[in-house]
Amino acid sequence: MEMYSSHINKLIEELAALPGIGNKSAQRLAFHLINLPQEKVKRLADTMVEAKANVRYCKECYTLTDREICPVCANQNRNHRVIMVVENTRDLAAYEKTGRYEGVYHVLHGAISPMLGIGPGEIKLKELIARLKDDVDEVIIATNSSLEGETTAMYISKMIKPTGIKVTRIASGVPVGGDLEYIDEVTLLRALEGRVEM
Ligand code: ZN
Repeated sequence: MEMYSSHINKLIEELAALPGIGNKSAQRLAFHLINLPQEKVKRLADTMVEAKANVRYCKECYTLTDREICPVCANQNRNHRVIMVVENTRDLAAYEKTGRYEGVYHVLHGAISPMLGIGPGEIKLKELIARLKDDVDEVIIATNSSLEGETTAMYISKMIKPTGIKVTRIASGVPVGGDLEYIDEVTLLRALEGRVEM
């Protein structure tokens, strides 16, 4: 005998498949949603569908944006000759929040992970190399200090070195395995200012 209706089971299953949501949270969320007024549920569902339909990659830096070119890349006051490489759009947002970084970004959408079977071809690396044809003075590698982040940093450094472009790595003030988005702004700025050439 099924404990809940099959619709609720299906909802719990879908919610539990989201990152960071275990079975218990999924059940709690499912019952919360069922108890909401119809129009609230519809608004949430519509918001998800609209976000998915309208958000795309910036043509230059590959961050998620509503426009063809994101606001950072479109800003002519930013220094387009300095590119900071981050793993995801959340990391970009963390650096933007400091309000002190004047260059542009490149969002990889992941990191190399032999364990998870994620190779260089699975992240936006080709796209980074393509950007180096323009005038670039420095590439700052700001991937996380996890094993995957370090592996990715080494890979990028080796790839860029032959071009003669300066490659730097943010300082190790960032806690090992720490997601950049959870680190406070002072620590981020210190890591950026203390970056060293690779
Ligand atoms: Zn952009």
